[in-house]
Amino acid sequence: MNKNKVFITNDKNALEEYESIIQKTSRAITEAFTNDRAYTGPVPFDLKKLVDVPMLPETGIGFDGALEQTKKLVLPNFVRTSSTDYMAHLHSATLLETIAAELIISTFNQSMDSWDQSPVATEIEVQTVKQLCKLYGYDSNSDGVFTSGGSQSNTTGIFLARDWFCNKKLNYDVKKLGLPENYRKFRLYTSEISHFSMEKSAHMLGLGYDSVVKVPVDDRMKMDLNALKSLIAKDKAEGKLPFCVVATVGTTDYGSIDPIEEIAEICKAEGIWFHCDAAYGSGAIMSDKYKSRIAGLNKADSITVDFHKMFMMPISCSCSLIKDASNFDPFELHADYLNREEDEEDGYTNLVSKSMQTTRRFDALKVWLSFQCRGKDGWNELIDTCVENAKYVYDSLGKRTGFARTCEPELSSIVFRLYDEKLSDEENDEVNKKVRRALIHQEGVVIGQTVYNGRVHLKFTLINPLTSHEKLDELMDLIAKLKV
Ligand SMILES: *Cc1c(COP(=O)(O)O)cnc(C)c1O
Repeated sequence: MNKNKVFITNDKNALEEYESIIQKTSRAITEAFTNDRAYTGPVPFDLKKLVDVPMLPETGIGFDGALEQTKKLVLPNFVRTSSTDYMAHLHSATLLETIAAELIISTFNQSMDSWDQSPVATEIEVQTVKQLCKLYGYDSNSDGVFTSGGSQSNTTGIFLARDWFCNKKLNYDVKKLGLPENYRKFRLYTSEISHFSMEKSAHMLGLGYDSVVKVPVDDRMKMDLNALKSLIAKDKAEGKLPFCVVATVGTTDYGSIDPIEEIAEICKAEGIWFHCDAAYGSGAIMSDKYKSRIAGLNKADSITVDFHKMFMMPISCSCSLIKDASNFDPFELHADYLNREEDEEDGYTNLVSKSMQTTRRFDALKVWLSFQCRGKDGWNELIDTCVENAKYVYDSLGKRTGFARTCEPELSSIVFRLYDEKLSDEENDEVNKKVRRALIHQEGVVIGQTVYNGRVHLKFTLINPLTSHEKLDELMDLIAKLKV
């Protein structure tokens, strides 16, 4: 074993090896940006064949050899998230400074479960969470934790809601005893276009899909408040137990925002936990112009914030914010080897007591570094550009023929459809599907596809601030041309 090629240590040769590996890697990465298309790799079957190579040779081929293989097979076939031709999902490019933060994170590999595995990282996460709580309007009773993504942040919120309801409303110790006998009566309300992590969470928490009540949306794809009220009233009359309402603050497809303030009022009146899934819309807080669209988030008992969507940070980076820190109790469990109570009394913070995970990444560094790097003004510009691009597409489509629009965007996504009145609905569906496939494999452009009112639609998810109006015009022209 060549010990200089194992870890970065204070040894001069090991340090040189580290720098050499990083330099070769960054060179390989920059060389992979040979054009500005989003995807230039093969179709699925060919890609499968291409990467069907043995992974564990008898004798290792060394870093240079392995990097060559990666350069040949992997790097050219990535989707390029920073391409302005990439707009299928809430899947962003990564801001340069946050890539630097990732390098620091993986080099030092701190683990956020206990203070002795992450002293300064723990204190930075605590500070970051505190300042995020303030940014989203919470007071000093609040707290939060970084998670692996919006799905885990949602599960966290719903988990805390379930336990709060059992402990406070039913006076029942669910942590010790498991679900109460009447668990089949528990009900969670969320819009019919909310994220599927609602059902997944309900299942994992022992409540099942049937506990999730889907509230209809209006023509702007926002939760219908009258429907919410009457569903809660009907369920209560039947002896059901409404325990949580989840508002979607930026739906995955449309970016539509449920009426936050009004839902908060309903939850307050009914004594129901209010969770806001702002995985997408949380980014709007950085825009002076548009942050009013997510006003009222601070009324929620828990908020999901994703930094790997509108905030453009490397996966994974998400945060779960809780209005009343005492509600974190369900995660608390002491292990003799990890988070001893006596240490915590002496100021050693062990963040494992707030998390579903044990070993956990220092993702907070990305937020901490990037917020300082760009400041309010820098962030303002990034977010405004994305929101205004969606509005631009909406307005332009209104002036073009051959397109049908859906609702006006509130964030940075726009859903529309190529529409020819001479064709049947099914034929129009086929045209839209065909155009999306042609865009990927002939043009290297990746856009989204979804279903609206039962019909196939196309979607632009515009979370790349480098996308210009000219670019969007060209793309709409291209789509119109590919239809024939
Ligand atoms: C993306 C998304 C999620 C899931 O977040 P992940 O980070 O992908 O786990 C949840 N809710 C909404 C509204 C989303 O758009």
